[in-house]
Amino acid sequence: MVNHQESGSPTRYAVIGSPIAHSKSPLIHSLFAEQTKQHLTYEAIEVLEAEFESFVNAFFESGGGGLNVTLPHKERAFALAEVTTPRASLARAVNTLSLNKAGQLEGDNTDGAGLLNDLYLNHRVSIESKRLLILGAGGATRGVLAAIADLANKPAAITVANRTLAKATALASDFASRLAITASGYDALDDQQFDVIINGTSASLGGELPPVPPSVIAPDCCCYDMMYAAEPTLFLKWAKAQGAAQAIDGLGMLVGQAALAFTRWRGIEPTTADVIQALRVHP
Ligand code: NDP
Repeated sequence: MVNHQESGSPTRYAVIGSPIAHSKSPLIHSLFAEQTKQHLTYEAIEVLEAEFESFVNAFFESGGGGLNVTLPHKERAFALAEVTTPRASLARAVNTLSLNKAGQLEGDNTDGAGLLNDLYLNHRVSIESKRLLILGAGGATRGVLAAIADLANKPAAITVANRTLAKATALASDFASRLAITASGYDALDDQQFDVIINGTSASLGGELPPVPPSVIAPDCCCYDMMYAAEPTLFLKWAKAQGAAQAIDGLGMLVGQAALAFTRWRGIEPTTADVIQALRVHP
């Protein structure tokens, strides 16, 4: 593929998915661009599954600078990328595409690192040497585990609990050589406590609570829901009611993954706290 980035300043970016109308990414990237004085355009484009590959190829052939990829295309983007970062390879999913210096389509996965940056930078929560519980064994959990596998200072122990135990077991086995990780069903969590609990299920989307026993919450526990909404999610309300010291939603993860994509594309790192604040004021 021709690398237009070498012959001129790339200016066109987009997030592609289906559905996409609800996406906050155009606003986030326009705030980053304003903050870092970058001249670019960023739009949300509805791309159906049947047109994914042809759209991506045409976008970069016509000089596009980079794409964010969201549901349902992250696995297809991983398959299409000619090279992938180690964390994208581990996640087997790509949310950020660009052309590298050799003109190859390069895929990264910034979701997990976006969550970890939000925890560290915006909430001063470290997972180093902690007991970490992750609820859910889908794509989002896989992305977070891939980012944790990249860390120099890892949690002491990670438990992945899932409704369908076989999926948690398969995930744990994929990461067993990199992390101290075990799989669990929800009922086996009864006699354990955790310092950090991340809800990576989509239960909150349906206004449901994963069936996690309240006894999992250790003193000073931090609970994080990957989902975000104008009001605290059911999981975050539950966490507060059980005495969790911190209950954090996934808006910072969304902004954090966007910041890492922006840095990759533009070579300049935006700050996230002000952008998260702006989104909270104007949801
Ligand atoms: P997947 O569909 O890949 O996985 C969903 C997981 O949720 C599965 O493990 C499933 O369990 C579990 N689950 C669904 N409903 C329930 C329930 N009622 N009770 C218990 N477990 C349930 O989804 P993703 O991994 O892609 O996304 C998960 C969440 O993360 C979503 O809410 C998504 O919005 C959020 N997310 C947020 C991002 C951000 O930037 N803030 C980025 C990416 C994701 P089972 O296997 O048993 O079906």
